[in-house]
Amino acid sequence: MITGKTSVLALLGNPVAHSLSPEMHAGWIADHGLDAAYVALPISHDAPESTIAALKRVGLKGVNITVPFKEAAAHAADRRDPLVEKLAAANVLAWREDGVHAFNTDARGFVASLEEAYPDWRTTSRTALVLGAGGAARGIAFGLAEAGVQSLLFANRTRSKAEHLEQALAADCATQVFDWSDLPAAFAAADLIVNATSLGMKGQPAPDWPIQVAKPHAIICDAVYAPLETELLRAARGRGLAALDGLGMLIHQGALAFEIWFGIKPDAAAARRRLMAILESR
Ligand code: NAP
Repeated sequence: MITGKTSVLALLGNPVAHSLSPEMHAGWIADHGLDAAYVALPISHDAPESTIAALKRVGLKGVNITVPFKEAAAHAADRRDPLVEKLAAANVLAWREDGVHAFNTDARGFVASLEEAYPDWRTTSRTALVLGAGGAARGIAFGLAEAGVQSLLFANRTRSKAEHLEQALAADCATQVFDWSDLPAAFAAADLIVNATSLGMKGQPAPDWPIQVAKPHAIICDAVYAPLETELLRAARGRGLAALDGLGMLIHQGALAFEIWFGIKPDAAAARRRLMAILESR
């Protein structure tokens, strides 16, 4: 029931129609009997910062921000969490009495999903390889650095973007950039491998990843969650390696956002059950 007191939350991005966030948050809102509604709003590509700044004057409870507006959201906020300052990107805004606060839950959401699936990952994963250098790769790399990995390796089709990301993290841990043509050497050097490119997504090509050279204890992660079982994860499981899909990152970044807005830790396992049913029916 929508009432005059219903709190409004939204996902801002473009496109947003494919997103699972509305179903995920609607599930948690219902679990806790909250008077709130979460909708997806495609916003125009021109002047996103002024659109977000204008929304600050509307009485929302909070928003998630997705591609390509995370940088604009970080700029538009009145206050920024230290991680937002570091990443220069925000995926959560919360309306508070002293203004709109910006947060980034992508980085810790990825680490939380890793911890949930492999609680001992830190003992074996000293060197992590991040494939890609876009928004997801940036969040994951900062999350891993914050979680204490000793060394971060990067490989991206456009090498200069990987170098840019490496420079941003060089103060936090040892770093190295590999050429995209040198993926076998990068795979062989890592204890944890994360695909944060769009390769393997529905409708995108899936390359022949050099999984055969990965270490026997390597954990293979994919940020892609549509499909849930990517070619990368299939190849990893085929070799008997640990494999982690991208749904956990989506759920945990969302759970951290929900906690920021409502002060309630929602049920991640219930969200996974509900979202898997939706993905299977698509
Ligand atoms: P993005 O900023 O557009 O970055 C895309 C990345 O993919 C870039 O590094 C790009 O390399 C690379 N790429 C694209 N096409 C390629 C190709 N044909 N060959 C090699 N590399 C290619 O996108 P994003 O937001 O980081 O998202 C990346 C992936 O992560 C998407 O699949 C998205 O669905 C997923 N994701 C998942 C979550 C989650 O919660 N699980 C959250 C965010 C994103 P160049 O720099 O060379 O273009």
